Amino acid sequence: MAQPCFTPRLAGVAHEVVKNSAIFFDRDGVLAIPTFRDGRSFSALSINEFRIYPEAEEAVLSAKTAGFLAIVITNQPDVASGKVSRETVEAMHEILQAQLALHDIEVNYEPSGSLASRRKPNPGMIFDSAEKWNLSLSTSYVVGDRASDMEAARRAGCASVFIDRGYVAEPLPRIFDYKASDVLDAVKWCIARKNGVQDAENL
Ligand SMILES: [Mg+2]
Repeated sequence: MAQPCFTPRLAGVAHEVVKNSAIFFDRDGVLAIPTFRDGRSFSALSINEFRIYPEAEEAVLSAKTAGFLAIVITNQPDVASGKVSRETVEAMHEILQAQLALHDIEVNYEPSGSLASRRKPNPGMIFDSAEKWNLSLSTSYVVGDRASDMEAARRAGCASVFIDRGYVAEPLPRIFDYKASDVLDAVKWCIARKNGVQDAENL
């Protein structure tokens, strides 16, 4: 009798090698509109202040349609310093989730200056997501507006997109793969690069 071409075990192995790709979005200055003052940006401290960029909805939808998981990775040190409550930040994320239908939101509440593994520029939130969502990090992207976002991307092995909001009170990132005008421009570049890689592989 003819044997099957592959065993269930081999089929299982083949299944495991298929990995997902994500676009990791920083929150403030990328999806949510911060307050700009003295050459830097400040996160919203109340629900009333919390605003989402008008182009964010199309950006996240485009990313998902192109096959990416849409995941937020955000440092929120203002909770530790007492400027805003954790409940308020969580309420902001419910708004973000309701409007953008993200796959996930990863938050780090460590204070500024903490070297915790999940606090950007460390890549812990990205690594945790990779495990949770079965991600290939070399085909995933980080979109951010600060050097710490670009550094987290580099440490995780993701491509990086920098949105330059013109901060003059902090060092600009020196290494990134693309400079975007806003989050929609960023996502369009990620999709074009993904398709370019696929085309190259199919040659
Ligand atoms: Mg930011």
